[in-house]
Amino acid sequence: AKTAGGHRWHWFDAEMDRAADAAARLSAELRDAVRGNQLVALYQPIVALPGGAPAGAEVLLRWRHPEQGLLGPDAFIPLAEGNGLIVELGQWVLREAVRQAVDWRDRLGERAPGRISVNVSARQLADPHFVDFVASLLRDSGLAPETLVLEVTETAVLAADTAFDQLHRLKALGLRIALDDFGTGHSSLSLLLDCPVDLLKLDKAFVSGARAGRAADAVARNLIVFTDDFGIDAVAEGVETAEQAARLHEAGYRFAQGYLFGRPVSADALEQMLTVTAVA
Ligand code: C2E
Ligand code: CA
Ligand code: CA
Ligand code: CA
Repeated sequence: AKTAGGHRWHWFDAEMDRAADAAARLSAELRDAVRGNQLVALYQPIVALPGGAPAGAEVLLRWRHPEQGLLGPDAFIPLAEGNGLIVELGQWVLREAVRQAVDWRDRLGERAPGRISVNVSARQLADPHFVDFVASLLRDSGLAPETLVLEVTETAVLAADTAFDQLHRLKALGLRIALDDFGTGHSSLSLLLDCPVDLLKLDKAFVSGARAGRAADAVARNLIVFTDDFGIDAVAEGVETAEQAARLHEAGYRFAQGYLFGRPVSADALEQMLTVTAVA
């Protein structure tokens, strides 16, 4: 048994080395991806309840890898955070989102998708140049600042002692701040009281999936009462069925996002969806 165990550990080491090599390779390739047009911004609609009218969209990043095909953020965002590329990658996403929002504003006017939400990682929020970058982006593009929503997680806010200061400076630019994945971190409510947030995104764990149930339902119901009291908007994430949407609306939610209303799609496809909705 001892020999077999030793053998197994040896095999396991080799396997771990291979995984580490693969990660190192992917991490190096990501550098070229940022510069080489391999990043893709998808857009998932955020809608008003109960009717499902479009209220905005969240930008979700993909990497069109030359050999591995379309990769989701879980496959490369952690690597980008590890090697520092997340700052450059985050700048790409923001530039792309603002360019697209201006394009929609100019061509679609009233029928533009509304507010555009962009995810901001802990490392970006901690970057001392981040606020200046966003400020110049807004200035140069001429986009109305309130069109842009920055989504930060509780964890990101707690990770840097400068985060609160950064958020206040961002708010001063006129954009909106959303607290993402709400309910999955720690000290949620006290954080909320100190943070200049406009909107909470109730994590999908409380809406759909294996852990959704009576307790999750209670969190969802209490949260909306709380946000209403504070004059904060709330978006329910991960809405997959009409029954979930109806329950959330009944609880008081006015905004939702999830596969029921639309998956993340290309900018063109989102525009198509909106045109169809407007005509129908
Ligand atoms: P997130 O910000 O919580 O984004 C929502 C995730 O839930 C997305 O996964 C979306 O595709 C998925 N989703 C939407 N509706 C449903 C539904 O009805 N059911 C289920 N099961 N899932 C749904 P995705 O695109 O794989 O992104 C994963 C995470 O990667 C995001 O979670 C976000 O934290 C991060 N991410 C994505 N794009 C960026 C980016 O540009 N920058 C940074 N820093 N992070 C990003
Ligand atoms: Ca998000
Ligand atoms: Ca989320
Ligand atoms: Ca997340």
